Amino acid sequence: MTRPRKLAAGNWKMNGTAKAALAEVAALSAAHPDPKVDLLICPPATLIAQMNWAKKTHPLALGGQDCHAKTHGAHTGDIAAAMLADAGATYVILGHSERRADHHETDADVRAKAIAAEAAGLISVICIGETLTEREAGTTLTVVGTQLDRSVPDIATPENCVIAYEPVWAIGTGKVPTTAQIAEVHGFIRERLTARFGAAAEGFRILYGGSVKGTNAAEIFAVDDVDGALVGGASLTTADFSPIITALENA
Ligand code: PEP
Repeated sequence: MTRPRKLAAGNWKMNGTAKAALAEVAALSAAHPDPKVDLLICPPATLIAQMNWAKKTHPLALGGQDCHAKTHGAHTGDIAAAMLADAGATYVILGHSERRADHHETDADVRAKAIAAEAAGLISVICIGETLTEREAGTTLTVVGTQLDRSVPDIATPENCVIAYEPVWAIGTGKVPTTAQIAEVHGFIRERLTARFGAAAEGFRILYGGSVKGTNAAEIFAVDDVDGALVGGASLTTADFSPIITALENA
């Protein structure tokens, strides 16, 4: 099986209001009118519908940053996967380390959300990654393997699921693992997916995330089994995100 198109994904986290977001849609679309990789922005949920209208025919995809595992009900402040889809999302980030830390989300929660996302027709971007303490203790592969096994549901396919390896210590810190460390973990994830899903594992996109910038993107994208990036801070402006997209197109 050949690998699908690479994916440059932006996670805006809790940043952005309508005026600036719509300007970013216009700027990003103009900078990459015919992208050779898949482009995804995950803005705050309040912006998805407006950005969806604004992007018109441009192939920029939009995603949520979380969804609830249930379809509806008494869950104040939560958003169902079908609501994200209704607003124009086609992806949803699940199990980001900030949600695992701030909202105590477990692997079982992430797995249930991924099943709900699939039922709503969304592609899950499932985040896994070790803390600095875990890396220094030499348990990175055990931690990542366990999160992968428990967070990714049996119904996962390359079409409905993307894996994002995000070392927690690299997110928003400016610290980046060595290319050898990235290669080791991405190769391990591919092997683990192959053991579980067979030949289909080749089709899963495995993104790297954690302090990706225009200055380090080409080096990271040259690593085997890196099929794109999940980008936080550097996805907020086209000036910062565009060089990363170009590096992925040229990888
Ligand atoms: C992220 O939040 O997923 C992320 C990778 O952030 P940053 O690029 O800012 O490190």
